[in-house]
Amino acid sequence: MTAASDLTIGVLLPDVLGTYSDSGNAVVLAQRARWRGIGARVEHITAAAPPPTSCDIYLLGGGEDTAQGFAVDWLRRHPGLCRVLAGPGLTFGVCAGLQILGHTLTDLQGRRHDGVGLLDLSTSPGRRRIVGEVVTRCVIPGVGLVTGFANHRGATTLGPSARPLGRVVSGTGNDARSARRDAVDGAVGENVIGTYLHGPVLARNPALADHLLERVTGVSFAGTGEPDVPDLPALRASYLARARRRLGGAPIAGGEGR
Ligand code: GLN
Repeated sequence: MTAASDLTIGVLLPDVLGTYSDSGNAVVLAQRARWRGIGARVEHITAAAPPPTSCDIYLLGGGEDTAQGFAVDWLRRHPGLCRVLAGPGLTFGVCAGLQILGHTLTDLQGRRHDGVGLLDLSTSPGRRRIVGEVVTRCVIPGVGLVTGFANHRGATTLGPSARPLGRVVSGTGNDARSARRDAVDGAVGENVIGTYLHGPVLARNPALADHLLERVTGVSFAGTGEPDVPDLPALRASYLARARRRLGGAPIAGGEGR
């Protein structure tokens, strides 16, 4: 990104991947950049056209096994794009997007397929599907706790040159085998970051979104606030407190009564 140009966010294969609205991550990045006076543009990079290699950030969403198989084949047919995904671009993958970025993916029949090889990790089917809310403590300084929703059968093992993105505080991480104290989510390479968490995860975790933006813009987002955005958690707490009083302290359906 140059001072004169807009930040460009490329959503890779939104026609194939994007479980749980993962492409919303692009909307979050673009809006948070604009709030800081940085122009931002989202490009939807579909399978039909040759992909641009000039985006600052590339996003890969989640998807079912067949969709991710298609995505790996497509990416491997575009080696110029893959080189950019490794850097200078910053790549952020979610779930299938994380798995695709690794060395290998083993399918339910035990066949091993090559991934894109940008993260030092491999994925093979776990014994059970991992579904549910997850909280992690992010290893990136300043990001803090990260929350998201996981739904995957693949179990991912990190190699020595990938660091986890977060240490699991609750829920299940990259695989269901690890003991709680060793459980981790996602992976971090030099210019490539992945997580199992949907949400969209950057909508649920603005500090993680700002970390990605800081990396590509060189601008510090710390303490700049969010213009025009009401304090939603505070509003929600006040509504719930009012509802609780109306109900005479009875728990509210959905576990909000605490
Ligand atoms: N198909 C992959 C799995 O189940 C990824 C799922 C997803 O992206 N939600 O492991």
